[in-house]
Amino acid sequence: MFDFRSDTVTQPTQAMRDAMATAVVGDDVYGDDPTVNALEQQAADMAGFEAALFISSGTQANLLALMSHCGRGDEYLCGQQAHNYKFEGGGAAVLGSIQPQPLTNLADGSLDLNEIVAAIKPDDIHFAQTRLLSLENTIGGKALPLEYLAQAQQLAFDNGLKLHLDGARVFNACVAQGVSLATIAQHFDSFTICLSKGLAAPVGSLLVGDEVLISKARRWRKMLGGGMRQAGILAAAGQLALTEQVERLADDHANAAYLAEGLAQLQQVEVQSCATNMVFATFNHSDLNSLSQQLLADGIKASVGKNTRLVLHKDISREGVDSLLASLARFER
Ligand SMILES: *Cc1c(COP(=O)(O)O)cnc(C)c1O
Repeated sequence: MFDFRSDTVTQPTQAMRDAMATAVVGDDVYGDDPTVNALEQQAADMAGFEAALFISSGTQANLLALMSHCGRGDEYLCGQQAHNYKFEGGGAAVLGSIQPQPLTNLADGSLDLNEIVAAIKPDDIHFAQTRLLSLENTIGGKALPLEYLAQAQQLAFDNGLKLHLDGARVFNACVAQGVSLATIAQHFDSFTICLSKGLAAPVGSLLVGDEVLISKARRWRKMLGGGMRQAGILAAAGQLALTEQVERLADDHANAAYLAEGLAQLQQVEVQSCATNMVFATFNHSDLNSLSQQLLADGIKASVGKNTRLVLHKDISREGVDSLLASLARFER
């Protein structure tokens, strides 16, 4: 089976399974798990930051960041397409009493800087207090330009806002732009990393920030029931995600470009965008159900719809891309 639905479907490597089986562990709620502590230190060091926190999911990592930067009645600015606005069940509002102020994402995934400034609420009792700007990188597969990050940082500084990055796929941006994690992270007060997407760990995300922010986040994590005990079993896979899976993302990007080229040859498919490990395409087939069934019969899982997102990852080889293209071509005949 080749599964194009998401990079979350990646299986852990044999090295990860071996490391998990032999990980030295302790009770992480007591701070006693040496493998978790090492992973957190490793992530902080890679980014040039003070501290990091190992968290069960990217959703919880974003929630902890929002709750640690903002209080009740505060507000964060983010994109309409932001995962931490659109795809996290309204958690910031429900659990944090924090109001989102979404802004329209531009075609490159960024937010217009003038619109951000215009959305910052004046200090007036009618308004929520704008505390935080939250960006996402990559977003829809697209890496935000480094100059844009610098401009956003200046804007945040000038307006007394903190700046958070939902960096679930930040390493895809690093690899695409040929820069280190620190080069991107330096523009932010905090950021998240998903270990369980293209980096192939089975479970886990990290929140990275300064000591004060991370100690607040640690308290919220416990309150939300996210304190884990012998979590080093999971962190052991996370360590290998950071050391052995980052450079490999370049293969996924090359496969995405190869897939986009192949799709462009088809009659009923229009490629909308291809960036890092994602291809977005319009599928104009009149019977998408039959197409789905044929793909499944050919060993391919994909969320086909009018707007189709195809995601490349470690468990999709060049041959996997070829079999998807062949199946689509056969369906057109
Ligand atoms: C996947 C994802 C998340 C959430 O991660 P989960 O581990 O699935 O909760 C957050 N932000 C972005 C941009 C993501 O792609």
